Amino acid sequence: MKHIFVTGGVVSSLGKGLAAAALGCILEKRGLRTVLQKFDPYLNVDPGTMSPFQHGEVYVLNDGTEADLDLGHYERFTSSLLTKRNSLTSGQVYLSVIEKERAGAYLGATVQVVPHITDFIKERIREVEAENPEAAVLITEIGGTTGDIEGLPFLEAIRQFILERGPTNAIVMHVTLVPYITAAGELKTKPSQQSVAKLREIGLQPQVLICRTEHPLDGTIRQKLSTYCNVPQKAVIEMRDVPKSLYEAPLMLQREGLDGVVCELLRLDDAPPAATIEWEKFVRRVVAPRRHVKVGFVGKYTDLQDAYKSVYESLTHAGAAHDCRVETVRIASEDLEAGPEAVERLLGDVSGILVPGGFGERGIEGMIAAARYAREHEIPYLGLCLGMQIATIEFARNACGLAGANSVEFDAKSPHPVITLLETQKKVSKKGATMRLGVSCAVLTPDTLTAQIYGRPEVSERHRHRYEFNMKYREQLEAQGFRISGTSPDGVLVELIELRGHPYFVACQFHPEFQSKPNQPHPLFRSFVGACLGHGQGG
Ligand code: GLN
Repeated sequence: MKHIFVTGGVVSSLGKGLAAAALGCILEKRGLRTVLQKFDPYLNVDPGTMSPFQHGEVYVLNDGTEADLDLGHYERFTSSLLTKRNSLTSGQVYLSVIEKERAGAYLGATVQVVPHITDFIKERIREVEAENPEAAVLITEIGGTTGDIEGLPFLEAIRQFILERGPTNAIVMHVTLVPYITAAGELKTKPSQQSVAKLREIGLQPQVLICRTEHPLDGTIRQKLSTYCNVPQKAVIEMRDVPKSLYEAPLMLQREGLDGVVCELLRLDDAPPAATIEWEKFVRRVVAPRRHVKVGFVGKYTDLQDAYKSVYESLTHAGAAHDCRVETVRIASEDLEAGPEAVERLLGDVSGILVPGGFGERGIEGMIAAARYAREHEIPYLGLCLGMQIATIEFARNACGLAGANSVEFDAKSPHPVITLLETQKKVSKKGATMRLGVSCAVLTPDTLTAQIYGRPEVSERHRHRYEFNMKYREQLEAQGFRISGTSPDGVLVELIELRGHPYFVACQFHPEFQSKPNQPHPLFRSFVGACLGHGQGG
């Protein structure tokens, strides 16, 4: 297997994950099966316990791993299906090594960063190789910025690994910033020179430089970067801000010749040119669609770019399938708590309402008001995880007259706990990786809109929650038009609901957003956007 290690320099938030995923995408278009993994230098074992303010979305894998949102980019841009082995943090590394030490695995030895921590990291790379025998390339992204203290063990492990495998089997691609100084009217190469020098200090020489820039790199700048960063000029790759959609990134990098350079370095040059026609068609529908629709997106973290990353991407995929731009009107749920006028003002002109997942009490009543507005005004509604619980609470209160109905997450003493703690959660006290996590199967109820949308009797979807629909209320709710349209195979857990007589009111206890891809939009998102277009008459 060939290896590409992706490092970042100068500043964080350079879009390393996107660059890595975009490279994976073009390599796959050249027929080279690609797998990606992420090394994160922080000490949390996984991002599952971090707030969206710290970390953005927590992306969930099939096996239930709570991972960095870059793994979402990896799965969306390539065919890889990732597992817990594709996401490694310093927290995991140290925890495992210390547990081994306590178990006596190193009896007699002094346990050290080099070699014990670095050996563990190298072993992980080999495990991912073994798990993906069909892959030709493994791209490993190292989180953080070169020069960070915490990243050093990972970089040292990579140095050793490259030495072991040789320069035609493993390379470093460094993503750097080439800033534009307005007062001087110039692009500056010094920060990149210094971050490459920092890498060289620890024995790593990048073979490819990805230059994040707001302005085109002219010949002189490319020459300077090449000379002072010690990278051939054709391996100095410009990566400008993608103007309209991040899905343009693979095509942009391909135009810069990135895949050719990488294939040459790794002696993969007999791979055919990239077949990008389908991707180009998809990008065309994303950047210049014929139609437009407005969706009200009601959540707690709507002012953060990354908190609902996969949901936004899923709407983009679904929009492309309808040749339609989905404009998300992001509404902070608390703003809907000011009363009916606020609800009317904020939701009056949307063609659909989406309530995504979430935790904690803040903003809940605003979400309930949004669900009520969608139900009463026959506006298409899609509820994801918390969004399904919200729809249930709203229906119980306002359609079934169950005053005070709530989830026990928000009101432990609710007279009508229509959402309760999962049985399996009752004994759980620790917080890390203890929710109901990962993929499980749902059986759909025949003759429901949900079954029609999916077009198959069983589905398999990814979960991340602690609370569930309380079956004691099933009959009362169903008598008023609530329908349970999917359950776990044993019939115990409610996985999907819908409302009779409403044009489109669908909600699920899982997270469909983790399985939507550019040319394969998830059926729930696709049908939701279709329903919104119907409601808004296309626009
Ligand atoms: N807070 C809810 C639960 O734990 C919903 C979780 C979610 O939306 N991911 O069940």
